[in-house]
Parts: sequence; structure tokens; C-alpha cells
Amino acid sequence: MGDTIFGKIIRREIPADIVYETNDVLAFRDLNPQAPVHVLFIPKRAIATLNDATAADAELIGKLVLAAADYAKREGFDKDGYRTVINCNEHGGQTVFHLHVHLLAGRRMTWPPG
Ligand code: IMP
Repeated sequence: MGDTIFGKIIRREIPADIVYETNDVLAFRDLNPQAPVHVLFIPKRAIATLNDATAADAELIGKLVLAAADYAKREGFDKDGYRTVINCNEHGGQTVFHLHVHLLAGRRMTWPPG
């Protein structure tokens, strides 16, 4: 488990508004939401960035993305749609180096992203 703020959330060392959990994935509300719904999905086994993922992580990353889709369906965001984002490193805007999928919903998204 990586030593990031997300590792502390997984270990319940700091509070988080957890909305979804499986054996492999945890999801909680973003502290600084960019949409009416902004949830972060993280693997419990830390991978720092998408660049660090290998073929050995394929199943875990599949579960991570499917968890976001499952939650979106469960909450009814699938009908209007939603956005999922993985930021990678500096130009991608990554600030926490524990791979995570942003799920944004509840408003129409714009393109291109900033
Ligand atoms: P990144 O910029 O893609 O790395 O996303 C990191 C996200 O984590 C940002 O949207 C932050 O608002 C969010 N964040 C940072 N610390 C916490 C926390 O303790 N709880 C919930 N979200 C957090």
C-alpha cells in the first residue's frame, strides 16, 4: 500500500465519505468536488500512476473501472451519462500518486478539458 493520503483512507487512519467498497476497490467523495457528484475510485493495492501499471495489474485496473461503472449505474447516472478521468503525472494534473479514477456526474461536461 502506498504512503499517500489515499493509503491512509484505506487504512481508516483519516476520515473519508466512503460510498462504495469491494475486496479490491474503495470509493469516496472528492474533498474538492468539480461536479455535483465527484467520487474517486482507488485500488486497495496501490499503483502510483497509470505509467506504473503493468500487465500484472490488468485485472485490478479492470475491476477499478468496472467499479466506477457499477456505482454509476447503481446511482442512476448511466442514463444522462457521466465522465471518468485518470490523470497521469504533472501535465495530466495528477496530485495524489495512488492511481485513481475520477467519476464526475450530475452536470453536462465540457470538452476539451482544461
Ligand atoms: P488528481 O489531481 O487526479 O491526483 O486527484 C486527486 C484528487 O484527490 C483531487 O481531486 C483532490 O481534491 C482529492 N483529494 C485529495 N485529498 C483528499 C482526501 O483526503 N479526501 C478526498 N479527496 C481528496
